[in-house]
Amino acid sequence: MTTAAIAGELERLLGAGHVSTDPAELELCSVDFSEQRLATAAVIARPGSTEEVRGIVSIARAHSAPLVPRGASMSYTLGALPQREGSIIVDMRRMNRVLAISVEDLCVTVEPGVTWAQLRTALADCPCEVPFHGTFSGRAATVGGGLGNWAIGWGKGNIATYLIGLEVVLPDGRLLQTGALATNPDHPGLSHYGPDLTRLFVHDAGSLGIKTRACFRLEPKPGGSAYATWGFDDEDRALELMSAIGRLGVATDLFVFGPYHHQVFSSRPKPPASEVRALLATVARGSSSRRNAARNILGLLRGGSLGYLRRWPWSVQTIVDGATQRAADGSMAAVRAAARRLGGRSLPPSLVIAMRTMPFVPIDELIVGMDGECSFPSNCTVALSEGMKLKRALDEFFAARAGFMQEHGLTATRLYLATANAFGAEPIIYWKDRMNALRYSVLTGERRERFGSQPANPAARAAALALRREMVDTVFTPFRPMHVQIGKYYPYRASRQGGDNWSVLEDFKNVVDPTRIMNPGALGLD
Ligand SMILES: Cc1cc2nc3c(=O)[nH]c(=O)nc-3n(C[C@H](O)[C@H](O)[C@H](O)COP(=O)(O)OP(=O)(O)OC[C@H]3O[C@@H](n4cnc5c(N)ncnc54)[C@H](O)[C@@H]3O)c2cc1C
Repeated sequence: MTTAAIAGELERLLGAGHVSTDPAELELCSVDFSEQRLATAAVIARPGSTEEVRGIVSIARAHSAPLVPRGASMSYTLGALPQREGSIIVDMRRMNRVLAISVEDLCVTVEPGVTWAQLRTALADCPCEVPFHGTFSGRAATVGGGLGNWAIGWGKGNIATYLIGLEVVLPDGRLLQTGALATNPDHPGLSHYGPDLTRLFVHDAGSLGIKTRACFRLEPKPGGSAYATWGFDDEDRALELMSAIGRLGVATDLFVFGPYHHQVFSSRPKPPASEVRALLATVARGSSSRRNAARNILGLLRGGSLGYLRRWPWSVQTIVDGATQRAADGSMAAVRAAARRLGGRSLPPSLVIAMRTMPFVPIDELIVGMDGECSFPSNCTVALSEGMKLKRALDEFFAARAGFMQEHGLTATRLYLATANAFGAEPIIYWKDRMNALRYSVLTGERRERFGSQPANPAARAAALALRREMVDTVFTPFRPMHVQIGKYYPYRASRQGGDNWSVLEDFKNVVDPTRIMNPGALGLD
């Protein structure tokens, strides 16, 4: 069966406008920010309903064609890329409806193509929220992609913390509802009854099925929020404070930014007055009372254009929410005491207020450097007690490779974040190169003009890829860490092999996907 024939069947199912074999679109679906290419996508299918997803699975099964579920492909670990020729990309972004918001039952049900920005807008006038707010990439990144990658980022916990049910089309064609969506779909607040299969499909990199619906628990929005920022000359002290705040267990958001990102944030062009007014209005709307609005606007204005960040190489940025402003301030008092002990210099919390107000950054601002560098971050999450050891191991690794990096024009920076009881480090490697199709697609305005046609630099790219691989294998792996977005990049399979943990997972895969059509290669399930 040729691709043309499969495309024909897909067109009969979905309508011609929802199937593509356009070479430029196929190219876009064959590369991500990891800069590796495994195979070229054969056809793109864009379903609009669960029934259509089942139809696509049925066509794929009939022709043994691999299926690759895809959200916005904002990943850097190959998860949404085809590993085998002849693959059908299942682009889920047409399924982007917020299906039901129930304030009475405290739950929201969405289709997987909903972006975090869309969900935020849908809940803007609601007294409740999903306390996990989404990924920094939430302008484009979808809930379905976050579920495949175990998203962390803005808000409390991670994507699984408030997830109470899923609907999944299994590779064998069956339609599975889990948790709240299995118990009583009319009142999905009842989160489970009997064994709950929901988490089996979280962080599965799309290897176990295609998610078509997700249900999250809502909570009342915080009655008050306290914001704080501290500057540090010393990276270690900043990280000690991040760990100390993590242990207090009160922070909703907690990040450490370094010199590179301070420069990025403080060199943003001054926004026009209309944009500033819009930002202030959004801050006011997002505040729980008039008094808090005045306080937050003052906090924002105190920082001006963030020039003060240039003075400090490192900053700890945190938000503490509470049922009331008093509760938030009370919890923040303990955080401030820890900051004083560690010698942090209190700075205006304007960046973190602005980011809470508009949490989803322009994608290209983080993934394309200030001078048009390509970059890939890598995530390594370890226990809080291992954080400083991981930091020192990274210091040694990059110091030993300074010559190699200089020779190939590579630079590196780091972000850190604490989630619940874990310490996350994100080293980011940069090099100058051409923009691949995905990077080019996220470049906007003047930056597209400046950087869109840079020449290819395959030697630097190869060096960056080798450096990243070596870092993952020799620095990260000995910590037995957890990585968000396993995709087809992190050595998950190797970390599980040699015991029943892997064989039970593989047995499940064999039952639902004996011919291995669902995202081959993801999680190491070839
Ligand atoms: C600028 C930037 C900022 C980022 N910030 C963060 C951050 O704060 N936190 C974080 O965790 N990550 C972050 N990321 C990484 C990435 O954006 C997230 O992991 C995001 O959740 C990916 O969503 P997506 O819709 O692009 O998913 P994709 O990349 O398209 O897919 C991710 C995985 O899920 C699978 N998948 C997608 N949809 C479905 C579905 N419906 N059913 C089954 N499987 C599916 C895919 O096969 C793939 O394996 C960032 C990336 C960038 C570029």
